[in-house]
Amino acid sequence: MSILYDERFMSDSIVNRKFIKHNENLQKFIDIRFIRREVRVNGSLKIVFFLSGTDDNIRKKKIKQFKNATKKMLVILQQFQIDTVNCYVKGLGESVGYVNSQPIRPQKRLVSIVLGASCAKYRPGDINIPEVQGGCSSKGYIRLVGDQIYDYYKPARTINAENRMIFTNIMHEYGHVMHQLSAPREYLRIVEAHKDIYFKNIKKYENAHKRLLKIGRQVSFYAQYPNSTAGIPDFVAETFASLMVGLRHGKDVREAYLMCGGFVPPYGTYHIRKSTGRNHPWSDVSYR
Ligand SMILES: [Zn+2]
Repeated sequence: MSILYDERFMSDSIVNRKFIKHNENLQKFIDIRFIRREVRVNGSLKIVFFLSGTDDNIRKKKIKQFKNATKKMLVILQQFQIDTVNCYVKGLGESVGYVNSQPIRPQKRLVSIVLGASCAKYRPGDINIPEVQGGCSSKGYIRLVGDQIYDYYKPARTINAENRMIFTNIMHEYGHVMHQLSAPREYLRIVEAHKDIYFKNIKKYENAHKRLLKIGRQVSFYAQYPNSTAGIPDFVAETFASLMVGLRHGKDVREAYLMCGGFVPPYGTYHIRKSTGRNHPWSDVSYR
């Protein structure tokens, strides 16, 4: 795999240490008033739901789609020795996906996903910019692949577009998790380069960065959105979500995704669109 940004050496213990630090962020999303509920997906994988006291009238839909999404992820999660997925369901705020503490063997057992209000919020698109997949919005909404999926299924009526959107947005969070699990070094490099650009104003990464974000336009508005919290990690997460729901992309996206350490879902784990009847062309790509 080609190296992105630079070749700073990271031993397994450095990677694990950096992840412990990185995952301190997760704590700020966690509320002590959560109610705990455990669900077994199969003999070797369980979901532990933490339900927030905040009233959330779409909570049931999030729980249902999370179970759904986790079943689709089962084979992949087992490949990475994950036995527990923590899911924090909140009525407010953003959604995030984390690998807890140490991603390098033998420690990688637990991953956490926070589902805030954002994962169930549809962002309408009312502007078409030809080179931005799925368009964008004059009201300042940042559109995701999930919103494109909503637009795709909404006219069908027989399919619940909102559920498909929530499912896709959950897959986006699994995309962050898979990025951290399958390529922890690339993930850290990207996150650190990002911080260097946005907080320390270091220019040396900017060209590589801009080129990747431009390619992200072929996936979604969010996949090309440069700010301090989104950017390249979200290009990866958006592309993973799109692959899992059966979208196809060209060579540029494929190369950029692999260069960032994006995980290619194996055949049989992703949705195959009946309209094309074909697999996405990446199923034979080796990602290591
Ligand atoms: Zn994200």
